[in-house]
Amino acid sequence: MGSRCIHNARMGILVLQQPKLSEPPMSSIARFVFSAFHENTYVVADPSGACAIIDPGCGEPAEQKTLADYIEAHGLKPEWLLNTHCHIDHVLGNAFVAQRWGLELAAHAGERVVLEAAEPTAKAYGIPFTPSPRITQVLEAGDTVRFGSIALEVRFVPGHSPAHIVFHNAEEGYCLCGDTLFEGSIGRTDLPGGDTNTLMTSITEQLLSLPPETRLLPGHMGETTVEREAANNPFVQAWKAGKPI
Ligand SMILES: [Zn+2]
Ligand SMILES: [Zn+2]
Repeated sequence: MGSRCIHNARMGILVLQQPKLSEPPMSSIARFVFSAFHENTYVVADPSGACAIIDPGCGEPAEQKTLADYIEAHGLKPEWLLNTHCHIDHVLGNAFVAQRWGLELAAHAGERVVLEAAEPTAKAYGIPFTPSPRITQVLEAGDTVRFGSIALEVRFVPGHSPAHIVFHNAEEGYCLCGDTLFEGSIGRTDLPGGDTNTLMTSITEQLLSLPPETRLLPGHMGETTVEREAANNPFVQAWKAGKPI
């Protein structure tokens, strides 16, 4: 679209409308760090305000207020409650989000067994925990989660937990990758249902196969990229060299 001149003869004003040089990105992504686990909770929204809340780790009232204040201040409308997987640190705020915005929990059915363990795990850690709703929106590999103009492709990446999934936005080049891959590290595999070879296969086939510039937004610590981890991640290097991990 070129620039247009509009001459308002009566007022004698020349108004120049600048052409749009580029469209703004569709997604706004907010990251909150919650709980003693320093877990990353994400809110992904499109310009209309339609949004998804991914892995709410807000178990404390002050944390829940932080999340709700953000959503209200930006006029957002939560449409999805998504879990990449159901370890305790990623589900501490599930009950709050489900109740506050009337949402069902969406995750892979294979995480039900992990979710059932969340309550005893919270007791063992001495963490107050309002039990999460059950998984009633079942997601599988190849599904697309849609809200507003945003489409997130579901990828199946077991290994850190038995049915971990990630949410990939191919159009905008980012992936909410939970606890699979971190900057310079990988998710732990010593918890029930974890397996190192399975995790490394998932990482190699489902994450590092994405375009190199893809932003990886993990469940802990800061963001990285596919290119950076493919080149520098010591666990990836060891796996490629056939060394034990
Ligand atoms: Zn985890
Ligand atoms: Zn975690």
